[in-house]
Amino acid sequence: MKTAQVQRLAGNIVDLHARRIFPGVVEWSGGVIRRIVPTPGRRYDRQIAPGFVDAHIHIESSMLPPSEFARLAVVHGTVATVSDPHEIANVLGLAGVDFMLRDGARSPLRFNFGVPSCVPATTFETAGAVLGPAAVARLLARPEVHYLSEFMNFPAVLKRAPEAMAKIEAARRRGKPVDGHAPGLRGAAAARYAAAGITTDHECFTLPEARDKIAAGMKILIREGSAAKNFDALAPLLRTHPDRCMFCCDDLHPDLLLRRHLDEHVRRALATGADPCDVLACASLNPVVHYGLDVGLLREGDPADLIVFTGWKNLRVRQTWVRGDLVAREGRSLLPRLPVQPANRFRARPRTADEFRVPARPSRLSVIGAVNGQLVTHHLRLRPASWPARWWRTRGATCSRSRWSTATGHARRSRLGLCAASGCARAPSPPPSHMTRTTSSQSARTTPHSPPPSISSSRTAAGWPSSAAGARRCCRCRSRD
Ligand SMILES: [Zn+2]
Repeated sequence: MKTAQVQRLAGNIVDLHARRIFPGVVEWSGGVIRRIVPTPGRRYDRQIAPGFVDAHIHIESSMLPPSEFARLAVVHGTVATVSDPHEIANVLGLAGVDFMLRDGARSPLRFNFGVPSCVPATTFETAGAVLGPAAVARLLARPEVHYLSEFMNFPAVLKRAPEAMAKIEAARRRGKPVDGHAPGLRGAAAARYAAAGITTDHECFTLPEARDKIAAGMKILIREGSAAKNFDALAPLLRTHPDRCMFCCDDLHPDLLLRRHLDEHVRRALATGADPCDVLACASLNPVVHYGLDVGLLREGDPADLIVFTGWKNLRVRQTWVRGDLVAREGRSLLPRLPVQPANRFRARPRTADEFRVPARPSRLSVIGAVNGQLVTHHLRLRPASWPARWWRTRGATCSRSRWSTATGHARRSRLGLCAASGCARAPSPPPSHMTRTTSSQSARTTPHSPPPSISSSRTAAGWPSSAAGARRCCRCRSRD
């Protein structure tokens, strides 16, 4: 029960709708803003603005349940997220989605969960769960789910595959947005993807790609997380298309979440010289409007979801308020830690090195070329190299006909994904137009002990186009994130 006592905050008030910043006092009671009173002539050294909303983040990547994620995120000014429970759904199915909804509801932070659209993300995955069109439609019917999450099987959308279109149609019937996920898609292909009802994309890693998608009617989520870092490439959009942009992390590992969340996007965006109202709109107004979220935007009658920060050049969040309650102050979370009953029964058996052995062949081999700071990768075709015998002895990897690295050996040599198969030690340059995007289980960079890229048919799934614009021959592995 919210207190009826009137609370007041004075400061420079950021009005994103009127695009002005003015001195004033915000008054609220019962968690709702009752009055905003200008105080002309008064000078304040702090700003009051709407709280931040991460427009796309998988809470699971923080390795925390939602209630614990909230404890850390509010310190950085986060009052809400748009979250895809894809990771847990991929393993636990509906039970996983239910767990996220239940646990998230215990926290004042506004988790806005969507329905995972592609479970499993690829036909190669054996995580265990499947969410078909009927299950997706049932989830979309629930009022507590707000949208259809990233449609990463974009080739199926381009082909207008019935199962994919049934999921999208179920969302559209209920007026719920459909999120996109189409790394590298350009031009007519991007337009065809958007025309199916896809409204956003958070996978752009080049400016021209983002512009193509904006031209197709999509909104762009500028992502800067633990694995994928696209801020620098997309920052020019803040000047040219600020009303079409939002900020997101996608995946934020616990070490980074301790240090920052969207406050870092805002700091970096302000440092580019972008208009402060545009920057703050990308962090709050734009996702709230796009997804129709029940999150306050610092207007009379809105929920009191707001932050107090100091500085513009080196913005620091001092207070975070959710529904009129102070949830973080001066870098400390005021939310209690809640006991959580784990939802999963993860029983992985130990793996042996032999399970990661691949047959050597005299011909060229397919090798994943990782790109630092990106989820997209090169698809390299390299000849097996001759390696010093001692190299193999120390790693226990041998073969009779030719030699090439195990994934663990590969990863040990470099976090940049050196080309062990060719024997060279070069870091791949930024991705060309032909590239693939690996799942987390395929990325030597993010999972150093993951299996090596298979050279068998597992990377050439039937049904994937070999010539989709911007995603040509290498783009055979579906991905998540
Ligand atoms: Zn994602």
